[in-house]
Amino acid sequence: MTRGIRSESGKLRRVAIVGGGVAGLSATLRLAELGVPVDLYSLVPVRRSHSVVAQGGISGGDGSGTEEDARAFFEETIEAGEFLAHQPPVLGMALAAPQIVDLFDRMGVPFHRTAEGRVDRRRLSGGAVARAAFAGATTGQQILYALDEQVRRLEAEPALDERGLRVPGETLVKKLERWDFIEIVRDDAGTCVGLVAQDLVSMDIKAFAYDAVLLATGGPGAIFGKSAFGATTTSAAAAAVVRQGAVYANAEFIQMHPTAVSGANKQHVISDALRAEGARLWVPNSKTDRRPPREIPEKERDYFLERASSPLGNLSAADVATRAILSICLKEERGIFDAATETNSNAVYLDATHVGQRTLRARLGGAVDTWDKLLGVNVCTTPLKVFPAVSYSMGGLWVDYESGAGGAIAPVSPRNQATSIPGLYAAGEVEYQYHGANRLGGGSLLSCAYGGLLAAGAIAAYRSAMERSALDLPKSIFEKCQKANEKAYGDLLGRGQEDEEAENPYSLSDELGEAMLRDCTAERSDEALDALAKKLEDLAERAQKTKALDTSIRANDAAPAMRRLEGAVLLARVIAASARKRAESRGAHFKPAKPNRDDAAWLKTTLARWEGDAPKVVDTFDYSCAGKTLSQTTAIDTSLLKVRPRKTEGKA
Ligand SMILES: Cc1cc2nc3c(=O)[nH]c(=O)nc-3n(C[C@H](O)[C@H](O)[C@H](O)COP(=O)(O)OP(=O)(O)OC[C@H]3O[C@@H](n4cnc5c(N)ncnc54)[C@H](O)[C@@H]3O)c2cc1C
Repeated sequence: MTRGIRSESGKLRRVAIVGGGVAGLSATLRLAELGVPVDLYSLVPVRRSHSVVAQGGISGGDGSGTEEDARAFFEETIEAGEFLAHQPPVLGMALAAPQIVDLFDRMGVPFHRTAEGRVDRRRLSGGAVARAAFAGATTGQQILYALDEQVRRLEAEPALDERGLRVPGETLVKKLERWDFIEIVRDDAGTCVGLVAQDLVSMDIKAFAYDAVLLATGGPGAIFGKSAFGATTTSAAAAAVVRQGAVYANAEFIQMHPTAVSGANKQHVISDALRAEGARLWVPNSKTDRRPPREIPEKERDYFLERASSPLGNLSAADVATRAILSICLKEERGIFDAATETNSNAVYLDATHVGQRTLRARLGGAVDTWDKLLGVNVCTTPLKVFPAVSYSMGGLWVDYESGAGGAIAPVSPRNQATSIPGLYAAGEVEYQYHGANRLGGGSLLSCAYGGLLAAGAIAAYRSAMERSALDLPKSIFEKCQKANEKAYGDLLGRGQEDEEAENPYSLSDELGEAMLRDCTAERSDEALDALAKKLEDLAERAQKTKALDTSIRANDAAPAMRRLEGAVLLARVIAASARKRAESRGAHFKPAKPNRDDAAWLKTTLARWEGDAPKVVDTFDYSCAGKTLSQTTAIDTSLLKVRPRKTEGKA
């Protein structure tokens, strides 16, 4: 075994983390604490990672810190996810939630406090109890910045050897911002031994050796065109490793946030926090009511989520609230009447005007002004017009876990957060482990932090158990990979420059987004998914015929965009194939032709992998971790909570 900080040939044994959102930064901190030197890659300065947009809060228990509350939160998460998540990791996350909020509190995250000075909690969507700690409505930003401050400190901290002596010129953390991960490097046995990345300023492509790589690259944003995802969620990193053999799980579970306002090129989510503070969703009783909303009296309004069938009311889980809004607007055609077009629009009112300026400003902080600047609407005085938007993926790279005492997760095992490619780990929204078919509000920031911390322990254990460090492998493995990627990039730059028929990659990206939004979000039909599969095959071919709209040698964003488009189409095909396969409705996956949950046939994980040039949904696969070969199936570990109908939404 190679336990030391140096490899046999005397090189410092670093690991790589790709992604500097909440998941990647949490993992970086813990690895550094464990004395493992980290290279941290990010497309953008880490403070601009997508985590910055998270508004409503982070689930952190009800404040009592009791095991009873952790168990109740575990049950709520499992039930909201319609029993599709393996239970031990979710229990592990629920038990760790209060400590994670404490950790962020100690780092200086300015959580809202109660009058007694304790960290305050609010309810978020799908939650019956107030468990989300929050910093106004900029919780993600505050957590991201607090983590980044800690990581900056570690950038100046020297790496120490086994005797506690400084390793000359080496720090515990090195940040490589504005670097684009392209793919992993694998040795002859298929183990991940490093990565290939491109410096987005010089455009140099380099292959690096690492003992392990953690992907924390966020959700599959680029696939859904105009969505609530940010520009850094390209999905290309996940697509690259799927192409290289990683298994992807539960791809069909794509969450729509019920309340978003359409912007020029993006959907702006209006956080659950507004509903947590009392905002209500409604449409006028009359389909053709032309009056401004504040002139419509209470008794002439339909507060459609406050009926008995939705016990969680305006804070119903995202899938339930989304379907209610879609039903009002698309099926019943009762969306807000637009006098200009004489039609019912795709919008309902989100109304907080009764809550009061003082409360909203005190509890939501800067968000009130941000929405005002962004949308030109003061939520304190004017109801917003909202409609659902794609905002999150429950599915992601398949990752493993090891159960420990009492059924919860073993805190240190090289299997935790390991993907199906040995040496490659994943944490955060890029993986599938914690939310099953539907995510509770506040659950993602928690699973990102928890998954990142867990992955760090796993990587340290994996690294200690290695027979031979990746740093001692022949240079030729890395040189070969680097050359192949340099050539591929050169080909991209040159492709189609003389061809007038060559396609515009940005237009193809729009086509992809439109097709996926139409056929693979809130409602799916097998006919539409079959047509979508053909459309995506066609897009995959056309993506090979695009040309770079800019051929600059330096700081070229156009050629990497072509690479990202190919990745987005690949992952879209995995999502569409997984959605086609699941013949039932569960959580965010809804097929009107099969409107019910079917546990007898479908209480199982969807596992998909890339075979040849197409996605394939599989029932089993083998993978190896730290020298052991393990067989995986679609079965779900339901050992801790008996499967039951989902009662919280009144659907049982
Ligand atoms: C509007 C909105 C509000 C939300 N509010 C909440 C909330 O209140 N509570 C909650 O729990 N969740 C919320 N979520 C969800 C939550 O914000 C995200 O799921 C979470 O922040 C994802 O974090 P992450 O660390 O996995 O990835 P990200 O924060 O997306 O970070 C990804 C990182 O990977 C890097 N990266 C990506 N590709 C590459 C590449 N090829 N090469 C190098 N680097 C790469 C990026 O630069 C970035 O640093 C919200 C989501 C949205 C859209």
